[in-house]
Amino acid sequence: MDKKQKKELTNLAGEDVRFDFPMAQYTTFGTGGPVEALYEARSLKVLRQVIAYLNEEHIPYLVVGRGSNILVKDGGLEGVAILLRGSLAFIEKEKTGLSAADAQAGDLSILTGAGLSIADLLTYCRDSQLGGMEFLAGIPGTIGGAIAMNAGAFEKEIGARVEEIHVITAQGDVVVRAGSQLRFSYRALEIEKGNLITLARLRLTREAEGVVAARIADYLKRRKESQPLEFPSAGSVFKNPPDDYAGRLIENSGLKGERIGGAMISEKHANFIVNTGGARAKDVLALLCMARDIVKRKTGIELEPEIRVVGHSNNEKAIRSK
Ligand SMILES: Cc1cc2nc3c(=O)[nH]c(=O)nc-3n(C[C@H](O)[C@H](O)[C@H](O)COP(=O)(O)OP(=O)(O)OC[C@H]3O[C@@H](n4cnc5c(N)ncnc54)[C@H](O)[C@@H]3O)c2cc1C
Repeated sequence: MDKKQKKELTNLAGEDVRFDFPMAQYTTFGTGGPVEALYEARSLKVLRQVIAYLNEEHIPYLVVGRGSNILVKDGGLEGVAILLRGSLAFIEKEKTGLSAADAQAGDLSILTGAGLSIADLLTYCRDSQLGGMEFLAGIPGTIGGAIAMNAGAFEKEIGARVEEIHVITAQGDVVVRAGSQLRFSYRALEIEKGNLITLARLRLTREAEGVVAARIADYLKRRKESQPLEFPSAGSVFKNPPDDYAGRLIENSGLKGERIGGAMISEKHANFIVNTGGARAKDVLALLCMARDIVKRKTGIELEPEIRVVGHSNNEKAIRSK
C-alpha cells in the first residue's frame, strides 16, 4: 500500500486500523510476520466501504477469525487483515424461517455475527439448552472461520446446520445466500474470491436441561485425551485422505517427535505440528513438507494440507523490496 492508500484507509476506518502489525498474536500457531494493515471492523457500514475501496485499489485482504487454521509466513502479509468485532461478533436468537413442524420438534434458528467465537456460541447454547453445535467444542475459531472451513469433528460438520449466510461482495454489497445453495465439502466452502461472511443463521435444537452441557464436557474430554492442547498449534495440519487418517500415516512413517527449530510433530497426535517455543513459520512449513514427502515416498499417498498458508517468506520480501 502506498501512503495515499494508507491515509484513505485511516479516513475510512479511523482508529480501528493499525499499520505494520505483527500477525503472530492473531494466529494460534503464534508465528507470522507483520501485516501491512490490521483492521478491526466494528461496523457493517464502514466494513462495506472499506471492502469496496480495497477492491477498487486492488489491495489484497484476508479476513482472519481466530487465526486457528492459518499459517502466516515470516515475511508477513501484504494488504489488510480484517478482524470482525463488536456488532459483527454478536448473537441474536430468532424463531423465524422454520416450518410449523420444525417449531413443534423444538428447532429454532439463531443469528450470529461471523466474528463470534465458537466458545461464546457454545456458552450461549449450554445456558439456553440449545443443541446441535456441541461437536465444535474445543475448536478455537470463530463462526465465520468455521463456516469458511466447514469445520467438523466426531463425524459432524457445521455446514449441516447453516441455514443462511450474509456475505459482503467485492463491490461492498451485502448478499444473503441460503444454506441450500451453499456448496460445502470436506473442510471447505465454495465462496467467491473476496467475499466475506458477516452473519450466519444456524439451526439449533431444544434439549432438556443439562444435555448440552454434558455433551460439551464429553467432547472436550475426548479432545484433551487425544490432542496436544498444551502447545500452540493450528489443529490438524493435513486433511484425512479417503478411508484413512493423516495422523496414522505420519505416525507409521516414524515422524512423531520430529523437530525443526521450535516446531515439532506432536508425540501425542501425529497430524498436529506444535510450536514448542520460538518456532517460526518456516520451521512449521519445513516439517509439513517433510511429512508430506516422506508419507508420499513410503505409502504413495499425497497428503493435502488442511491449514491455509498465507503471506510471503523473508526471502520473497527481500527480493520484492529490491
Ligand atoms: C487445537 C485445535 C483444534 C482444532 N480442531 C479442529 C477440528 O476438530 N475440526 C476442524 O474442522 N478444525 C479444527 N481446528 C482448526 C480451526 O480451529 C478451524 O478450521 C476453525 O474453524 C477456523 O476458524 P478461525 O476463525 O480461526 O479461522 P481462520 O483460521 O482465521 O481462517 C481460516 C480461513 O477461513 C477464512 N475466514 C475466516 N473468517 C471468515 C469470514 N468471516 N468470511 C470468509 N472467510 C473467512 C480465512 O480467510 C481463512 O481462509 C483446530 C485448531 C486448533 C488450534
